[in-house]
Amino acid sequence: MIGERIQQARKASGLSLRALAEKAGVTAMAISKYENNQSTPSSDVLLALAKALGVRVEYFFRQAAVKLEHVEYRHHPEMPEKEKGKIEADVQDQAERWVELEAFVPTPWSVPFEVPGNLPPKVNSYDEIEEVAASVREAWNLGRNLIPDLTDMFESHGIIVFAAGLDAGQQCDGLAAKANGKPVIVVNKDRPGDRQRFTLAHELGHLVLKRRLAKGLHVEMACNRFAGAFLVPKETVIKALGQRRTWLEPQELALLKAEFGLSMGGWTYRARDLGILPQTHMRSLWNHFREHGWDKKEPDPQYPQEKTRLFKQLIYRALAEDLIGESKAAELLGMSLKALHACRNMECPDEAAAHQ
Ligand SMILES: [Zn+2]
Repeated sequence: MIGERIQQARKASGLSLRALAEKAGVTAMAISKYENNQSTPSSDVLLALAKALGVRVEYFFRQAAVKLEHVEYRHHPEMPEKEKGKIEADVQDQAERWVELEAFVPTPWSVPFEVPGNLPPKVNSYDEIEEVAASVREAWNLGRNLIPDLTDMFESHGIIVFAAGLDAGQQCDGLAAKANGKPVIVVNKDRPGDRQRFTLAHELGHLVLKRRLAKGLHVEMACNRFAGAFLVPKETVIKALGQRRTWLEPQELALLKAEFGLSMGGWTYRARDLGILPQTHMRSLWNHFREHGWDKKEPDPQYPQEKTRLFKQLIYRALAEDLIGESKAAELLGMSLKALHACRNMECPDEAAAHQ
């Protein structure tokens, strides 16, 4: 069983057998045997492996308590298998730490995710999705204004959110999966906040619209519509833009983006979908966007990235009440004891910030 753990940590670090062998000072053949549980590494070797893999030795002895299933990548179907293995191992590791913490304090894993009961059973048009999004907002008491921390809000409803490095060079916004049956959404940690928020809201759309869409409606388009409507409800868009427009000023869109955390591009789609900006004007607006390269990267300043605070906060809470010891806290936080001590004195070294 230690073998699976070594392999998982190796995949998470993206190292080949040979690369790990070189780093840890053992042969690739030996590592292959460890991974297949054909031989057991000595404690010295385990230490060397842990160091090379950037994990604590305890990691190898942890029970694999999470089953990751139904992994679906968003917007990048042809990601290489090696890259997928690395991401999935990383997500698995983050999920396991959540499950382990759950044994000591209540975490979002204790709350089962439920689709609100007030939704229409069938959605027959894209316009009806506005109503679905409004109903979710209502059920979750979100009002009509900005949702400040989407991540925290999702987690309080039993959706686990992780940020992971998804190979910055590739156009992957995130992935959705089930871990022990619970919905997990992974956002690309290198994307600006508005992109991450849209990914989160889009994935919520998948969960909420499942089995509700009438034939002929395109799932991805429906989820995009849901995301826009969830982030900025119809009434709020009309209040901000007016009933009818011929053009939207980039400055205007940038200010609205800062206020609501929906991208400038997202606002143009809201305006078009709600009949505020006619399609012909939408086209000229997007030509203008493309001329400036804003279709690829929106102008600065970028919207602040989503932060996942809850996991850390719960670890410190458990530590404060002696529910876990320092060594367990350090392991769960993925930092050394020395770094943890510094953090407890409010002097976190960079090392501590590295592992989310
Ligand atoms: Zn989708």
